[in-house]
Amino acid sequence: MSIAVFDIDGVVADVRHRLHHLERRPKDWIAFFAEAADDEPLSEGLALVADLAERHEIAWLTGRPAWIRDITAAWLRRYGLPAAQLHMRGDTDRRPARTYKLGALERMGEVAVFIDDDERVVAAAKGAGFPAVLADWVPRGDALRDAQDRIGRT
Ligand SMILES: [Mg+2]
Repeated sequence: MSIAVFDIDGVVADVRHRLHHLERRPKDWIAFFAEAADDEPLSEGLALVADLAERHEIAWLTGRPAWIRDITAAWLRRYGLPAAQLHMRGDTDRRPARTYKLGALERMGEVAVFIDDDERVVAAAKGAGFPAVLADWVPRGDALRDAQDRIGRT
C-alpha cells in the first residue's frame, strides 16, 4: 500500500502556544519541545489524515527531535491518529529540515503524497519528484519558520 506522509507541527498540531520560548533570547528549545504534549489539534489536518487513511498507510515525518518520541506518540493516539510510523529527527541532527526530510522520504517506499507546512521543504520534495502539498492553514511567523528548520541553534 502506498504511503501518505504527514508533517506534524503546523499540519495536525498547533504549536503557537509554545512559540514564546523561541521568541526570547536565548531561545529555550527544551521548553519549546517539552510542551508539545499540550498542542491543540488542527481540524483541517485531522480531516485530511482521515480522508487519506482510507486509501493509504499514514506515516509521520517530523522535524521534532527523537527525545520527544513518547510525548509525540501519546499525542497522536490521544487524537485518534495512527502512530505506527513515526519518523523523527535524531537528537544531534542539525541539518536543515528540507535536507533531513528529503533523505527520509527517499527511504520510505511508494509515497503517494507528502504534506508539510514549510514551503522550503515542499519545494525540495517537489524538486526531487515527490507529490508534495503545502499545508497552509496556520499562518507562519518567523519563530515557527526557524523552529521547523533548525534545532538547538541560537
Ligand atoms: Mg511543520
